Amino acid sequence: MGNIIAVDLGGSKLVVGLVSPEGTVLHSATAVLTGVPFTRETLLDMIDTCVKAIDFKAGHPDAAAVGVSVPGHYDHAHGVFLSNYSTGMRDWPIVEDLKEKYHLPVFADNDAKTCAVAEKLFGSCRDTEQYLWVTVSYGCGGAFYLNDRLFRGARNFAGEVGHVPVEFVQPHLCGCGVWGDLEAEASGTAIGRKYLERTGRATDAAFRSKEVSALARQGDKTALTLFREAGYYIGRIGAMAAMMLDIQKMVLGGGVAVYDFDLMKPGIDRALEDLLIPLNRDFFHVEQTALGYHASLLGAAAVAMEGINA
Ligand SMILES: [Zn+2]
Repeated sequence: MGNIIAVDLGGSKLVVGLVSPEGTVLHSATAVLTGVPFTRETLLDMIDTCVKAIDFKAGHPDAAAVGVSVPGHYDHAHGVFLSNYSTGMRDWPIVEDLKEKYHLPVFADNDAKTCAVAEKLFGSCRDTEQYLWVTVSYGCGGAFYLNDRLFRGARNFAGEVGHVPVEFVQPHLCGCGVWGDLEAEASGTAIGRKYLERTGRATDAAFRSKEVSALARQGDKTALTLFREAGYYIGRIGAMAAMMLDIQKMVLGGGVAVYDFDLMKPGIDRALEDLLIPLNRDFFHVEQTALGYHASLLGAAAVAMEGINA
């Protein structure tokens, strides 16, 4: 199998990489999406600029396929990026557009689903048949891998744990319209917003978990508590999944999980202690992704590799 052109379309950043069949990122190019209009034309242009940069660095490689990680709901049957709450993107036939441009097979999926596939192909789940992947980043997402394959559900929306309620006493409103869901309580954005709220400071959209993490690491008690609480909410999702589906583990990825897993771990452990029955306590466990910060880029490559082999 040849190399893959992997496209990780994030909410704030675009990364395009040339990835080997073993999961090594050979070359990559990045573009910042903050302030960029999230339209089909603009994004296609930006993807192409990154692809050209890689083509130049790699000396015109022969790629076997293009793989894409999409930040939101994705119609797998028709290759359409359906929607994303924060950018307003709707109904982009991304597979058709990229096929036309690059004359290669193109495969795409929701970014949490691509990450779950990458963890199976290149990460810590090579020998695991039942798991839940959870992304904790600006938003939260998830994907189930069940009976050794990605579980899509009826419309490819299975595993949307970001919009499952976890806080019922003092819930915050999510962009999706649900109160107290994982994204509203434990995402990087939520952790930043809740810190400002609890310390009586003015709202600031740029203040996120990264800033709270820096404070927590200096011993700030509110910051430490917020990460423990976020861990508890994430642990609550894991415990529910373990009880309902008898899965072996939950793997956490995304910026917050990659950088601040240690700060959330006490909360996660506490939730598992509180909520799991003894039968599951020694069986089910939670761990950090083995793929680091590039899980979603490797995910894009992974879905293309699976697609070619299907
Ligand atoms: Zn939501």
